[in-house]
Amino acid sequence: MKRNGKRLVIALGGNALGKTLPEQMKAVKLTAIAIADLVEDGHEIILSHGNGPQVGMLQIAMQEYAAKYQEPPAPLSVCVAMSQGYIGYDLQNALREELIDRGIHKAVSTVLTQVRVNQNDPAFQAPTKPIGAFMTHADAQEKVREKGWTVVEDAGRGYRRVVASPQPIEIMEIETVQALLNAGQIVVAAGGGGIPVVAEGHHLSGIGAVIDKDLASALMADTLDADTLIILTAVEKVAIHFGKPDQTWLTDLPVALAERYLCEGHFAEGSMKPKVQAAVNFVRGKAGRTALITQLERARDGVRGLTGTTIH
Ligand code: ADP
Ligand code: MG
Repeated sequence: MKRNGKRLVIALGGNALGKTLPEQMKAVKLTAIAIADLVEDGHEIILSHGNGPQVGMLQIAMQEYAAKYQEPPAPLSVCVAMSQGYIGYDLQNALREELIDRGIHKAVSTVLTQVRVNQNDPAFQAPTKPIGAFMTHADAQEKVREKGWTVVEDAGRGYRRVVASPQPIEIMEIETVQALLNAGQIVVAAGGGGIPVVAEGHHLSGIGAVIDKDLASALMADTLDADTLIILTAVEKVAIHFGKPDQTWLTDLPVALAERYLCEGHFAEGSMKPKVQAAVNFVRGKAGRTALITQLERARDGVRGLTGTTIH
């Protein structure tokens, strides 16, 4: 690390990966440029990423396979593991190539990461996150009877399974991530919010849930005692009165004010709210920490203090 280098945990949003296989191949090249800029500036990097479209694709594929061959379908936790592998593979290769192009020799690795949640998290009583294939009413009722799924009617397009989005409690592979960082590597970890597991004694058991990737990234940043949590998304800054005539972009956001805006409902559920909440969780953990929310393409400028919304 250079003298001014910081430890950065960077959460990549959907725009960093695209929605389809060909889109992902292209998107990761641009993502690699943004990340390599930060490596060049001397920072230590831990990457995490979303997986919504990818895990949806894998889940549907696994469901269709199961139906065709009368096999039990792969559980959601297995699909998350698959998505971490497949996204990590593309990301680490794109980054490796971009770094070599710049004459930087640094290993990049992906860690399959489990994240422990609490079985008694109230989120399990109120599942909110729709996943997987659309079903007919009859198929949906069968899943409810046979598997105990919760299903909802999704905007007139059919029925879908909804799963809980519990709070992340512990990053199970944190020692592995730490060891790779100590060895000077760039690490991709906690993709898709991590593979959700519950502990039964020393046995970890996958559970049908989706952990918010921004909240999992904040926990990882806290555990690794990072300097800055960076959430890269599709907007350059966070706004209050978003999409309204009095919309105001925020540059400098003290944590107490962020908390007030959260209470006042300025940030949309499932998109900006978990990002601001993740930033608050991380910054509240220890004095001197900052969180940055900005656009992927502006990451370098953001870290240099030239753009984005900084929560401190
Ligand atoms: P990601 O895939 O990066 O997690 P999301 O779509 O979940 O992206 O969240 C980012 C989006 O949140 C932005 O593109 C923007 O449309 C939306 N958004 C909602 N509320 C706000 C707000 N108050 N300020 C800025 N963006 C907001
Ligand atoms: Mg999101």
